[in-house]
Amino acid sequence: PTGEPEGELWRADEHDYSPDSEDSARTNAALISLVRNEEINDLLHTMRDLERTWNNKFNYPYIFFNDVPFDDNFKEKTQAMTKAKCHYELVPKEHWDVPSWISMDLFRESAQMLEEENIQYASKISYHQMCRWNSGLFYKHPALEKYRYYWRIEPKVKFFCNVDYDVFRYMEDRNKTYGFTINLYDAPQTIRQLWPTTKKFLAANPSYLNENNMLDWITEDTIRPEHTEGANGYSTCHFWSNFEIGDMDFFRGEQYEAYFEHLDRAGGFFYERWGDAPVHSLGIGLFADSNNVHWFRDIGYNHIPYYNCPNSPKCSGCDAGQFFAGADWLQKEDCRPSYFKHVGTH
Ligand code: GDP
Ligand code: MN
Repeated sequence: PTGEPEGELWRADEHDYSPDSEDSARTNAALISLVRNEEINDLLHTMRDLERTWNNKFNYPYIFFNDVPFDDNFKEKTQAMTKAKCHYELVPKEHWDVPSWISMDLFRESAQMLEEENIQYASKISYHQMCRWNSGLFYKHPALEKYRYYWRIEPKVKFFCNVDYDVFRYMEDRNKTYGFTINLYDAPQTIRQLWPTTKKFLAANPSYLNENNMLDWITEDTIRPEHTEGANGYSTCHFWSNFEIGDMDFFRGEQYEAYFEHLDRAGGFFYERWGDAPVHSLGIGLFADSNNVHWFRDIGYNHIPYYNCPNSPKCSGCDAGQFFAGADWLQKEDCRPSYFKHVGTH
């Protein structure tokens, strides 16, 4: 088995995917990464893996984003890793700056309380800004306007399996909204008010809820009840967004747009530490059709310390079925069992 999805798939040897072709078979998609100049070496490892296993066949462009300008070293070394085009973009100040309605005093006060609960990055303002940008602003960047699909990558992640079909075409042909590899529980302390704030939004906009939503998965409360309780009704199970392949038409749509606006005004990106992973997951889980969410079981993936490792001859470098590296207790952080039970695989 290779774990590849069934049905017709676009393969690089059957279509024109040469990097400079005017009418290549590539669809409207890009590989994107928010990244810092200092992370260049870790990013090169990511690119080497992704090129080897997939993109050297398809040559999708890379678009790198940064809150400060990329230096020449970054530009030269990334472009040297690929035949595909690389673009370097600055995040607009109005997308990165802390919004005017946020009180910095209240931020510092709440961050200090989270620090006392040992929440990583609680006081690091740039981490909060990053989570907010990834939640609701990246797809508004002018450089992404003409694109529909994105694949998010991060420095230091790994890809283990040869993938021989155009995954963006797969998304488009099957009308997929969102693709993931790993599902994890979150630290409830970072999102105490996220579900209550979301419920207020739903009460005011009941028609936004998708008929085929994932509420049962979102509110699951038997596997790790202390998580669901700590997050006031949300299981904290989320798509781990350091890997995600998505349709920006969904995020740009009325429902998600209004939802992000509501969350942003509520202030939890700063007064708590709402991550883009639970925010995207709730948005997808409530406003998308669960049939349009796809588990890429065939994309072997690692972001420390978790893995998605298929049992397939196309993979090397990870152990089939492996979920974690390190202590055994990490196994219980995997919440795919809850996802598969309530949503299934599509
Ligand atoms: P973690 O995985 O939650 O520990 O967060 P990371 O440190 O991996 O950050 C997530 C992504 O955002 C990575 O691709 C980082 O390179 C990027 N990132 C985080 N903070 C900043 C920042 O202040 N500026 C820029 N340009 N990128 C950032
Ligand atoms: Mn990361």
